Amino acid sequence: MRKYSKENIKSLTTKSSSIWHNPRMPWEDVCFAMAGLSPIVSKYARLKYANERHYFFDVWKYVYWSTEKMAKEHEWNHKKQVSGYQNYNTFIGMIAYLALVESAGSDKCGKCNGRGNLHTGYKVIECFKCNGTGKTQRTEVVRAKFMNMSPRSWHRYWKTRFNHDILGIFDVFEYEIHKVLRERL
Ligand SMILES: [Zn+2]
Repeated sequence: MRKYSKENIKSLTTKSSSIWHNPRMPWEDVCFAMAGLSPIVSKYARLKYANERHYFFDVWKYVYWSTEKMAKEHEWNHKKQVSGYQNYNTFIGMIAYLALVESAGSDKCGKCNGRGNLHTGYKVIECFKCNGTGKTQRTEVVRAKFMNMSPRSWHRYWKTRFNHDILGIFDVFEYEIHKVLRERL
């Protein structure tokens, strides 16, 4: 029957840069894919992509533990106590918090509301405020201030550790998520 021929069946999925933002993706398929993730990465994915905020503390604990391990291995000197949010008020606690907030996208760009692009009427353009990332641009100066440190000390000691080693934890998470999605969906 012509009605059911292949040409008449329109693609149900819309092109999207991220599978998680694809509204046509059946929930069951996403669950199936998520089941293939290791427990901590699953929590991170739920926090980041499904905005399940109650996973924040668990993921933070993991980042804290990993960062503390790196600090010991590489003999990173740091203050023990800093004034910070309740439960996060150690140096490692705060830097783990900063890394998680940046990586899990909790700091949405105010201009594009985290979408990374702007609709101008007939054209979609890349958001100029966040350069299409959808996140508030974190500068090293802002990071230093958050850690209650002079930009100079931050630059000298913590910039590379933060960008390479600590944020690297999330690169591993993202890699696993994309690998599992490719295999399972
Ligand atoms: Zn933006």
